Amino acid sequence: MTANASVFVEKLRSVVGDKGLVTDARARHPYLTDWRENYLGTALAVVRPATTEEVAAVVKVCAAEKVAIVPQGGNTGFMGGATPDESGREIVLSLARMSRILEVDTIGYSMTVEAGVVLKTIQEEAAAHDRLFPLSLAAEGSCTIGGNLSTNAGGVQVLHYGNARQLVLGLEVVTPAGDIWNGLRALKKDNTGYDLRDLYLGAEGTLGIITKAVLKLWPKAKDVATSWIAVPTPDAAVELLSGAHAASEDNVTSCELMSRQGIDLVLKHLPGAADPLTDRHDWYVLLEWSSTRARREAGNEGGLTEKMEGYLGEAMEKGLVLDAAIAQNEAQARAFWALRENHSEAQKREGPSLKHDISVAVSRIPSFMREGLAAMKKVLPEGRPVPFGHVGDGNLHFNCQAPAGWDKARFMKHGDAISRAVYDLVVSYGGSISAEHGIGRLKVDELAHYRSKIELDVMRTLKRALDPQNIMNPGKIVRV
Ligand code: FAD
Repeated sequence: MTANASVFVEKLRSVVGDKGLVTDARARHPYLTDWRENYLGTALAVVRPATTEEVAAVVKVCAAEKVAIVPQGGNTGFMGGATPDESGREIVLSLARMSRILEVDTIGYSMTVEAGVVLKTIQEEAAAHDRLFPLSLAAEGSCTIGGNLSTNAGGVQVLHYGNARQLVLGLEVVTPAGDIWNGLRALKKDNTGYDLRDLYLGAEGTLGIITKAVLKLWPKAKDVATSWIAVPTPDAAVELLSGAHAASEDNVTSCELMSRQGIDLVLKHLPGAADPLTDRHDWYVLLEWSSTRARREAGNEGGLTEKMEGYLGEAMEKGLVLDAAIAQNEAQARAFWALRENHSEAQKREGPSLKHDISVAVSRIPSFMREGLAAMKKVLPEGRPVPFGHVGDGNLHFNCQAPAGWDKARFMKHGDAISRAVYDLVVSYGGSISAEHGIGRLKVDELAHYRSKIELDVMRTLKRALDPQNIMNPGKIVRV
């Protein structure tokens, strides 16, 4: 470290103390790489401030020296957005120590939290108050609410509750100048000028650092029915979902589509995982209905499970369902969910893969699936497509696993061509090349390729206006 660098680090230490500075090389490593281990950066410092005031003071020190800041939450993002570059001139600012739940307002259905609270902790706190915080995704045991809001995370209940943007009322943000904007308003209505909150949501730390948030809560579900369903085709999956909205009395909370290839990977890599159905099928749907009306209430004796049984029986007669299992208890429901939620982990253990987090209109999923699989195979016939995802949101993880035995370098020679084929098709469908994971570092060039000049110009204008020194997570989303 140069003399200047060590003076700078000492300035940071004077703000956050020894506890807020990670200096040991081994302890620093996890902050310098991403979940998928696609990137490995270096950093001038890794700081862990404990309060908003400390975050603001760190930003002021950095702003004075024009040192770039990479905010980091749980570091579970897929886009490399929380990883510093290789220059060694950026700092990582982890929000992990800001992990307090500040208030639960059961009357007003809201919760105020610090940005570093782990998503699962928020879900559990809401449940302890007989409330629901509906954001739910496989990384919920380690991702943080600050990261969720900064990526506008989606997850498995978007079709009913919306994505992260729809689940938040107010924010507190530290600006690139080190000022604190207190927008912690628990207001359902607030039409007072430009919506600053919406600017920071999904900004991936490029416009400021989210330090606190007021979240919306819902009543806790009292009755949940979960089924594991084999369907003949994605067309059948979409038709099954379409009918389920009315059949469930608008209580569909999740609808996930998976292919046999994905299930085989999960069964291979997840110890103890078992196929819920005896026969092998090409396509599966995990369908969940939730209601606040308790089972066994007068007039609702069989609850959602009975309704779901009836609906799936009818769907079977129409040929939309080949076989199905309805969870008889929570443990079974969890086992179904484990098969879905371990797709990313199983893909990681299997070896290199390409991820395409895309969305198209729900009704166009089946034809997209047909054309997309053909397009992928045309580029690399030996590639192993693993399409799965939130079919209820029109959001597929249209992934491609490297051919068995191939290393990353060999596979990645085909990476650009595969992704180009997929994204060109997505755009021809009027879809999005990033439905829920964001842009980060990985898709900066893709965004520049597919978004119009006017959109990119507006984004760059915003970035330059709010972060004139370009110190807030530079090189992510758009280059300025
Ligand atoms: P990080 O990875 O730490 O950061 C993500 C981005 O946000 C970075 O650009 C970072 O700089 C910025 N950031 C973090 N905290 C702040 C802050 N306080 N202020 C400003 N900027 C900040 N995502 C989905 O949307 N849906 C899914 O279903 C889903 N499933 C997943 C499953 C697995 C197994 C894994 C590993 C990931 C999954 N993800 C999913 C991706 C990831 O979990 C989400 O993007 C999550 O929201 C990231 O939160 P985090 O705290 O880990 O953020």
